[in-house]
Amino acid sequence: METQHYHAVALLSGGLDSILAVKLVEEQGLRVKCLHFVSPFFGKPSQVRRWRSIYALDITTVDVSDDFARMLAERPQHGFGKVMNPCVDCKILMLRRARELMTQYGATFIITGEVLGQRPMSQRRDTLNVIRRDAEVRDLLLRPLSAKLLDPTPFELSGMVDRERLLAISGRGRKEQMALAERFALEEIPTPAGGCKLAERENARRYWPVLVHAPTVTAAEFRLSNIGRQYWQGAHWLSIGRHQKDNEALERFAFPGDLRFKVVGYPGPLAVGRQFNGQPWSEEVVCDAASFVASFSPKAVRDGIAVAVRVTCGETVREVQVMPARATVLGWAEDEWPVVREAIRADARARALPVHATPDDGRDGEAE
Ligand code: SF4
Repeated sequence: METQHYHAVALLSGGLDSILAVKLVEEQGLRVKCLHFVSPFFGKPSQVRRWRSIYALDITTVDVSDDFARMLAERPQHGFGKVMNPCVDCKILMLRRARELMTQYGATFIITGEVLGQRPMSQRRDTLNVIRRDAEVRDLLLRPLSAKLLDPTPFELSGMVDRERLLAISGRGRKEQMALAERFALEEIPTPAGGCKLAERENARRYWPVLVHAPTVTAAEFRLSNIGRQYWQGAHWLSIGRHQKDNEALERFAFPGDLRFKVVGYPGPLAVGRQFNGQPWSEEVVCDAASFVASFSPKAVRDGIAVAVRVTCGETVREVQVMPARATVLGWAEDEWPVVREAIRADARARALPVHATPDDGRDGEAE
């Protein structure tokens, strides 16, 4: 365990704001340990080594997958944003973890790259206060980019941090950040788009049915739902590979109790059927799924005859004879976004949780 002394820990998404916030504090001669949070939904662990080198930052990866899956299963108390992004609860969760890690790094405060008014849901002044309160970091949190627009923190008052050298940025503009990036001679300006899968409709369509149908949702479920094509028939879940890489990933993320489908004698994808809590699928559902999976083998479809599909579950291997069919008797489908959006809203209403009218789009996808 690292026991080096740092003045602060920082939430570092890899987005520009988070990098600049750290640089502003380091510029004052203070040491910062950057925490890069990862989960099935966000985080770029493969980039950390590069960031260390090009931005000269001290970065550690922190996996919050299980806590995040639990928060989604219990539903975010502050609601979802425009898609399925629970930005306020997400920030609270990360700040709580950062607070726990402060002791390990000997840190006195926490830095985030939040900018007042940059996003409608999570960066309004009142929301910033709610985040600070609910994460229990009231006297621990420094937001260097907007600090001068916020109340002075204890470390500014004590002189540890020079408030005069912090900034008063607000709103959605990026001009000041770009100028700052130039001042710090950043070798590369991170692109703001595409960081958080929960903010993308395509991915929300994958995640929502998992949340609704899985009896106990874990990070492992969301990892599986990130792969290939996703189909549902009631509460039966089928993940189908699009290419070899997906097939290998499906093998990796499948549970021992899952069903594996593979057409015999034709090129075709691997498909994984999740048997929640080891509850076996009925013969009717297995055969229907096999028929559907076989329809992803163009040669099998072209031959127009019944084909064998190998169905494996643990040590048990058998074959079923089916006609390839995309439109099966039971029907496998993925809900369209408007249906999912309405389901998310109805779920929030039923639980008396906020349904945001002008929510964050999470476009920056920055866990800052
Ligand atoms: S967009 Fe950012 S803050 Fe919102 S849920 Fe995703 S990672 Fe968290």
